[in-house]
Amino acid sequence: MINSHILSQEFEFVEPHTIGEAVKWMAAYRGNAKFMAGGTDLLVRMKMGRARPEAIINLSKIPALRYLIIEPGLRIGVLTTFRQIERNGFIQKRYTALHEAAKAVTSIQIKTMGTLGGNLCHGSPAADSAPPLIAFGAEVRMIEGDKERTIPLEAFFSGPGQTLLTRKELMVEIQVPEPKANTGSAFVKLGRVSADLAKVSVAVVIEREEDFCRDCKMVMGSVAEIPLRTKGAERILMGRKFKEDLVEKASLQVSEEIKPINDMRSTAWYRKEVSKILVRDAINLAWKRAV
Ligand SMILES: Cc1cc2nc3c(=O)[nH]c(=O)nc-3n(C[C@H](O)[C@H](O)[C@H](O)COP(=O)(O)OP(=O)(O)OC[C@H]3O[C@@H](n4cnc5c(N)ncnc54)[C@H](O)[C@@H]3O)c2cc1C
Repeated sequence: MINSHILSQEFEFVEPHTIGEAVKWMAAYRGNAKFMAGGTDLLVRMKMGRARPEAIINLSKIPALRYLIIEPGLRIGVLTTFRQIERNGFIQKRYTALHEAAKAVTSIQIKTMGTLGGNLCHGSPAADSAPPLIAFGAEVRMIEGDKERTIPLEAFFSGPGQTLLTRKELMVEIQVPEPKANTGSAFVKLGRVSADLAKVSVAVVIEREEDFCRDCKMVMGSVAEIPLRTKGAERILMGRKFKEDLVEKASLQVSEEIKPINDMRSTAWYRKEVSKILVRDAINLAWKRAV
């Protein structure tokens, strides 16, 4: 068995100071290097022998990737950490589900080192930042050489540990639109213990007009190969008068839409059952906050 405390493989280590230098280094290594942000996923994978890059391109010395701009809407540099998100009062108030996701990340050490960019680029269906960011309609901006593209985060994930990033592409920014007035949101996560990845997580964003749910976005983590938008459940609430029986119907619908698996964290059966409760709680919380 591999001793996961030891980083035994050899690799080169470069520290660019600009975005341009970083993408040039990646081109020089022909995509056989890895960008490193906080290293909390990458170094674990390398210690386990699951990643063997020729070089690590450390992003942490690039100030142009570390910012959080409120303008309205958010522009988040990829090196922004969970801790910075958690401590931002504006995000707590206007993007409550994102605040709650950052708060739900296991430990102060991981929150301090772990970045939003790394969380998304790792491509895990359990990534805590993905459900709220997708529910808020985030887009991600990426650069390769002199080419640049921006895509909806909802389309970014392609399978467990897989994303649309090419081997040479650098994610630089996460853009989140301003929520409409009377919008409330919530993120609810269940882990085996508080310091663990999610068995199931859900983010709900609701726009309210008096007693009606004008719009609803619902995205779940750890219940499919990618963070999953449950559109059937959204449709049950959208445009309707908000009532307890509709919330119940939406939470039952979710268990039809998700495709969980058995793994070390939970069983597919339990994930389906507990999803109903988590979704109900998240809808009710988001609704109450949408004032
Ligand atoms: C003990 C422990 C607890 C954890 N708990 C949680 C948790 O509660 N919730 C959760 O969601 N995650 C958790 N994680 C996973 C991890 O901490 C997070 O996913 C974190 O956000 C990763 O960010 P990072 O900056 O450390 O990424 P890194 O490890 O630096 O990078 C992750 C991957 O993304 C790539 N990458 C990074 N930045 C870029 C970029 N800008 N462009 C292109 N590719 C890039 C890297 O090459 C690598 O493949 C935990 C991990 C550990 C070890």
